[in-house]
This record gives sequence, C-alpha cells and structure tokens, in this order.
Amino acid sequence: MTGAAHPESAVAADPAQHRQDLLLEVKDLTVEYVRPAPDPGVVACRDLTFDLHRGEILGVAGESGSGKSTLITALTRLQRMPAVTTNGSILLHREGSAPLDLVAQPERALRRLRWSEMAIVMQSAMDALNPVMRLGAQFADVLRAHDPTMGRKAAWERAAELVAMVGISADRLRSYPHELSGGMRQRASIALALACEPSLIVMDEPTTAVDVVMQRQILSQVLRMREQLNFAVVFVTHDLSLLLELADRIAIMYAGRIVEEGPAKVLYADPKHPYTRGLRDSFPPLFAPKRQLTGIPGAPPSLVSPPAGCAFHPRCDRAFAPCDTRTPELVAAGDRQVACHLHTWGPLLAAERAEQSAPLEELNR
Ligand code: ATP
Ligand code: SF4
Ligand code: MG
Repeated sequence: MTGAAHPESAVAADPAQHRQDLLLEVKDLTVEYVRPAPDPGVVACRDLTFDLHRGEILGVAGESGSGKSTLITALTRLQRMPAVTTNGSILLHREGSAPLDLVAQPERALRRLRWSEMAIVMQSAMDALNPVMRLGAQFADVLRAHDPTMGRKAAWERAAELVAMVGISADRLRSYPHELSGGMRQRASIALALACEPSLIVMDEPTTAVDVVMQRQILSQVLRMREQLNFAVVFVTHDLSLLLELADRIAIMYAGRIVEEGPAKVLYADPKHPYTRGLRDSFPPLFAPKRQLTGIPGAPPSLVSPPAGCAFHPRCDRAFAPCDTRTPELVAAGDRQVACHLHTWGPLLAAERAEQSAPLEELNR
C-alpha cells in the first residue's frame, strides 16, 4: 500500500497485501500507574487493541485524562515509573525480519529503534529541541548517531533538505531554537523526527501550542511528507474535527479504553458510540457542514475510581439497564469497532420489546 492509498481501498483490492503492509499490531495493551501499597494502581490504558498499516494515519481523540499520552509513551516505550505495562504486546513489523514485541525489548534495543524506526513529536517543540544547540547541530547529531559514516558536510546538507520539506530555509539551521517562532520550532521538530526516515511517527498534540493558521500548515505538510516518505502516524488530539481531514482511521478513547475505532470519515459522519457523537458535537467542524455544538454534560471520571459498568454511563443520555453494571466489550461492527451496549444488547432488547408490541426504535438507530 502506498501512502496515497486509503487503507480501506487497499483491503478491498488485495487483503494479502494489506496484511503484508501491517506495521504495528497492538494487542490488549494495559498500562498502570502504580502507587504505594495499599493503594491500587491507576489503569490509564486498558486492553487497547488496534492495527496500524504502513503509510496510515491513525488519529486518537478523547478528553483530558482519557489515556492518550499514556498510550503514546507506551508505544514508543518512553514510559517511566510509576507507569508500568502490565499486559499486552506491541508488535513492530519490519521488512525482511521477524516482528519485534516492543514490550519485551531491553532499553538498548529500543534505543537502536528510536529515530530510525520510530520517532516522537511532542506537544511543545522545546521538549524535543535542545535550547543551547543550533538547529543544524541538532540535526547533524541525530543523523550521525545513526550513520557514523556520514560526514559533517553531508549531515548539514541533509539537514537543509529536511527543513526545506517543512518550509524552513537552510540559513535557519544556524539559529538557536529560541530565535525561531513557535510554529517554526514545531515544524523543525517534525523535520527532526523524520531525519532517519522512520516508518512510524507518533505525535502527541503537536499543534496545540500554535495558532489555527499554523496548525493547518503543519497538518498539510505532514500529509505531503507522508505521500513522499510513506511513514505511518499515530496522531493524538482532543479535537476530533481536526482528525477528519488528517486521519485515515480514528480511535476514540474514554477513561483509558478505546470505545470506538474506524475509518475517519464514516466515524465522523455516523458515530455509533454516544461519546463519539458528543465529542464530535463539541468542536466546530473545519470543513464538514456546520452543526449545533452541544458538548457533553459533566466531566470525565477519575481513573482512581471509575464508575462501574460503562464508564460513560453517568454522562450518557442513552444509558439503559445494563450500562451501570456491565462493561461493554469492544466488538466489530462492519469495518469499525464499538464498545456500547446499544450495539450488542440494543437490537436484542428491541426485538424482545417488538414481540411485546412495545417498539424501541431508539435502540436500533
Ligand atoms: P490530556 O488530554 O490532558 O493530555 P491524556 O488523555 O493524555 O490527557 P494521560 O496523560 O495519558 O491522559 O493520563 C491518563 C490518566 O492517567 C490521568 O487521568 C491520570 O489519572 C493518570 N496519570 C497520568 N500520569 C500519572 C502519574 N504520573 N501518576 C499517576 N497517574 C497518572
Ligand atoms: Fe451509553 Fe450504555 Fe452505550 Fe455506555 S454502554 S455509551 S452508557 S448506552
Ligand atoms: Mg496528554
């Protein structure tokens, strides 16, 4: 599959090829923040399962505290105590060799994979850039650490190519990070992430600190570079509308779980999970037809003591009998997955009610 091909069309055209294009297989990933006894740990990511293909952009959206950054640091294995991966695997598929389970890799092996196989772009470029080094020297350091045969001049030339890709002129390589605008710093940190041509880039709210115009420029540059270099992206944001124009697929997180996952346009146009719908209607759409913004009543739960059953039930206007006692499983629904009793019990209950001549059209919507 090329970066230009939409993953769904690739599946339809050639399922074997789609399988072959698998880059990351995340299965049952569970991350806990451990606390001193007798306090139980805080499970910030629970049983996360999803695939990512080469050249694919997966958007991850959810309110504050839903576990997005915990997922990002677990994927890149940058998590530190008190975060502990207590279950699951992250298989990284590489061309010409067996897949690696990143969860089982020692730090030394992970260090080799960072930059060359996977790179991270943080919310603030200042977290990624060294404030006391000129930009060009930082690029040269990364490039030469992964290719010690590369001379200083060649590294500088490659750095100039990389910053040009994000619209920064080569003379800026002589600048220190504080001499650049916020947007330019963020674009430089994206170029730095691409330096060793990784197959995966994870981005945690990379455009939150810049204005809307710069945000659009950065997103379109990411898309253009993806066409050129065919890297896959996991892109985290709390703004679902942003993902509509960027992502191929979207995963929605709530209280540490994926509650819905599927092709971006379908999920946005017709959310199956009440939380996805609420999140969509909380942000003005960038391109889609204007809709009334309703938001979601209440606040996300504390993960220290999440509500029983479906963690969304105290805020859900469609909650019914099983919701406050049973946790819905993430189950396949066509080409997406959804964790909501409406889509498992709903049709059964509707059929039962229909038999008793009490229609429950609501549940079949
Ligand atoms: P935001 O949108 O605000 O960045 P997020 O979705 O990235 O939020 P995380 O930072 O992954 O959320 O945090 C998820 C949950 O993990 C938090 O609600 C908090 O309960 C818990 N958590 C995060 N960091 C720690 C920590 N160092 N110790 C204990 N619990 C933590
Ligand atoms: Fe609402 Fe119940 Fe679905 Fe949870 S499981 S989102 S409470 S309807
Ligand atoms: Mg975060």
